[in-house]
Amino acid sequence: MVSYYYVVVDRREFLLASLAVAPDTPVEVPVRVVIDRDAKWRPGQLKDLSERIWPECARDFRRGGVVLKASRGEGRVERPHGREPVISGLDPAALNAVMTDRIPEEWDRGRAIAGVTTLYRDYHLCLIALHRAHGYRIPFVAVNTCTHELLHAILGDIFESKPKGMTGEWRESRIDAIATKLWCWGDGGMVRESARVYVDRLKASYYPRT
Ligand SMILES: [Zn+2]
Repeated sequence: MVSYYYVVVDRREFLLASLAVAPDTPVEVPVRVVIDRDAKWRPGQLKDLSERIWPECARDFRRGGVVLKASRGEGRVERPHGREPVISGLDPAALNAVMTDRIPEEWDRGRAIAGVTTLYRDYHLCLIALHRAHGYRIPFVAVNTCTHELLHAILGDIFESKPKGMTGEWRESRIDAIATKLWCWGDGGMVRESARVYVDRLKASYYPRT
């Protein structure tokens, strides 16, 4: 026989269990901010990063239910001629946000881009060129560079090669639209859920399966 008391207890436990996995629980993303020891900084550039660009980025991810759990370290972006860059100081268990002065030519190819997000030798990497990076400027057009690059990782673009042509352009516009929603309306949309999936994939790639 199922008494009323047990039904109430069961419901309460069910409610508590639901709260334990509430969909609005913030998702923590481990981020390693790596400063390139070889970069030639302009005056005030690192201050602008730590006092404006990064705090804007962290604030808006937080508004979207994602906590950037950041640690900081140093590394190097070496640029051997005609070869892939050699980047050190990376953390295999985190999304690495490497701050340098400019993107190495092998990856930039004359485009003067502000950032690249890619899987680099199994590391998750956002490489950000502070000579070109900026905070939020114009909705949908010029959003915070760190937010833009981190979204490429968290939304899963990092696991695919960049599509060419219009599809690639559409992907960039989509990232800027999502960054704008975070910035202007604090609307995270599916960012939190994507971050949950992303962190699972990051852990799966780092921790060996048993
Ligand atoms: Zn992009």
